[in-house]
Amino acid sequence: MKVLVIGAGFAGCCAALLLRESLSADVSVLERAKVPGGMLRTLHTAEGVPYEYGPRVVSVFRGTPDLLPFLRRYLDLQERDIYQGTRLRPDYPVVPFPVDLESLKRLPCGATVERELAAIRERGEPPGERDLRDYLESSVGPTLTELAFEGFNRKFWGRRLEEMPAAWGKLRRLERIAATGAYRLPSEASHYYPAGGFNPLFDRMLDGIDVRYGVTVERIDADVRGASVLTDAGTFRADLVVTTAPIDALLGHRHGPLEWRGYRVEIDLVAPRPSRRSGRARRHSVRVASTRRGRRRPSAARPTSA
Ligand SMILES: Cc1cc2nc3c(=O)[nH]c(=O)nc-3n(C[C@H](O)[C@H](O)[C@H](O)COP(=O)(O)OP(=O)(O)OC[C@H]3O[C@@H](n4cnc5c(N)ncnc54)[C@H](O)[C@@H]3O)c2cc1C
Repeated sequence: MKVLVIGAGFAGCCAALLLRESLSADVSVLERAKVPGGMLRTLHTAEGVPYEYGPRVVSVFRGTPDLLPFLRRYLDLQERDIYQGTRLRPDYPVVPFPVDLESLKRLPCGATVERELAAIRERGEPPGERDLRDYLESSVGPTLTELAFEGFNRKFWGRRLEEMPAAWGKLRRLERIAATGAYRLPSEASHYYPAGGFNPLFDRMLDGIDVRYGVTVERIDADVRGASVLTDAGTFRADLVVTTAPIDALLGHRHGPLEWRGYRVEIDLVAPRPSRRSGRARRHSVRVASTRRGRRRPSAARPTSA
């Protein structure tokens, strides 16, 4: 069976590897970038110091015990103690993440958060079911809802909290927060970082697999004989196509509006030279164009400064 996998990010590499191992499929991967990894990629500063573009560590949570042996086939994972900090507002001090109640108390809004959590505890009622806002406000109070969830949710899903079902909150078992006093429950997760960074993962997973770099897929068409994948480097045919790139755009939105939006993320790597005006090094400029319900809404590209 001839299989085309679109995208050589983590999902595409896993699909290619598993299809080849379990079905002995003849797999080719089409990747528009010059390197694999997608959003999970170790970059280096001019001085050769590694840093992550995307996720920084491998964390093994409840329900993912098979992750570690799988990754250890390809990476020398070393257990690390990690500290993560976050600012709930740009003008607030950094607090540990997951946030504990003691740190929250020291924030300008600390007394309000405490009061709201105490009121929830006292009421002792199950969380609201109307929508995600109702669920969150009745689980962690309006202040934490605004600080920790409102903007994050908008960025991730392009939706307001009242446009999403309460079930999204239940996934995180937030109703326990008022009882335990922690904004996000500390997990028992162990954390690992691979010696040499993440990049070898992809080279090793793709070892022996036909990968075409610098090929951008533009459309997928299907007929009784299989699928045609139209790219800027010609048309490829396959019995099966697995895409890890935004499927709504690749299918020309011909199946109607999708429930959730797709992303098109374009990354420009800017040389880490100090900018003349600020004297600070410039980082990535990232363009995000979202497609929601079949409509495309590109947002302006804005360079970010370090
Ligand atoms: C800053 C940051 C922090 C993150 N932190 C975490 C975290 O802590 N935990 C966590 O679980 N996840 C985290 N993520 C998310 C995680 O990195 C991604 O979910 C994961 O890497 C996605 O893998 P993927 O293969 O699905 O997609 P991608 O990595 O986006 O891979 C898709 C690939 O397809 C290619 N492609 C796209 N369109 C086309 C096309 N038309 N033709 C050909 N090729 C195409 C792209 O070039 C890319 O290589 C983070 C991401 C970022 C950016």
